[in-house]
Amino acid sequence: MAKRHLLIFFLDGVGLGDPDPETNPFLKAKLPGLDRLLGKNWFLRPVVLADQVGLITTQWASLVATDANMDLPGRPQSATGQATILTGLNVPKLVGEHYGPKPNQAVASIIRQNNLFQEVVTAGKTAILITPYPQGYFDAIDSGRRLFSSVPLAATSAGLPLMTADDLRAGRAVSPGFTGQGWHDFLGYEDVPILSLEDAGRQIAAIAQSYDFSFFEHWPSDRSGHRGPIDQAVSHLEMIDQVLVGLFDYWDEENDLLIITSDHGNIEEKNHRLHSRNPVPTILVGPGHSTYSAWISDLADIAGIVRDFLELENV
Ligand SMILES: [Zn+2]
Repeated sequence: MAKRHLLIFFLDGVGLGDPDPETNPFLKAKLPGLDRLLGKNWFLRPVVLADQVGLITTQWASLVATDANMDLPGRPQSATGQATILTGLNVPKLVGEHYGPKPNQAVASIIRQNNLFQEVVTAGKTAILITPYPQGYFDAIDSGRRLFSSVPLAATSAGLPLMTADDLRAGRAVSPGFTGQGWHDFLGYEDVPILSLEDAGRQIAAIAQSYDFSFFEHWPSDRSGHRGPIDQAVSHLEMIDQVLVGLFDYWDEENDLLIITSDHGNIEEKNHRLHSRNPVPTILVGPGHSTYSAWISDLADIAGIVRDFLELENV
């Protein structure tokens, strides 16, 4: 049997919202990549879908409307949401609140105790956090001026190195903003290669095919939910879709499982600047996508799919 690979393509702050073009940028965005996989109007909150089930399955992919509220009131936050995805535990419930954006002590200690990166490494398999960090980030972490967010905390807790500017130059990493343009324009790295959006998607897929478990973290979608006009959010969604077109082109859907998911809603409600309590889309592409989709009702259910697909529990 061919080697299996699993990639989590994480989008911060992307939920399933109302069918209102004045507030929900998905209504105006042209998303040919995702539409081709999932059909029309896949991005609406399930109560307004015809089947009202929150599950879409096509020949190519499945989408599950995934609860991010985790049986707690209040607005879901990044640290606890990401920690839930990475541990399979209801972290907001364990710490008594939705917390973020960076983990506090309670969230950090849960992540350090066990997470998917650690399980993969313990099983003798390979893992990577594909998104790189600039030197200034490492300096700020070392001096204590900055805390790891949940995802890099999980990766480093497993003893994995974070990707650097050198990895980005060498094509071993892809930047959170996809093209590298932000590193060029705002971080002072004028020598990093600038990728087209489709090439960024292809490169993420190629990297994922060299590791058992990969995680790509795109956080600017949450920023696009917090700030800026709705038109900017429309362009942002179109940019993500173009990356996915490149990724889907290159994806080995016979052997490799792709999980696209998010930690909480935000960008789908541009009439306020806060996170939403909407469900988030979890999109599965690859072997068993339809079977696995039945396993998911909230964010804590994603880790079990990773464990099953990579056979982590049998070790
Ligand atoms: Zn946010």
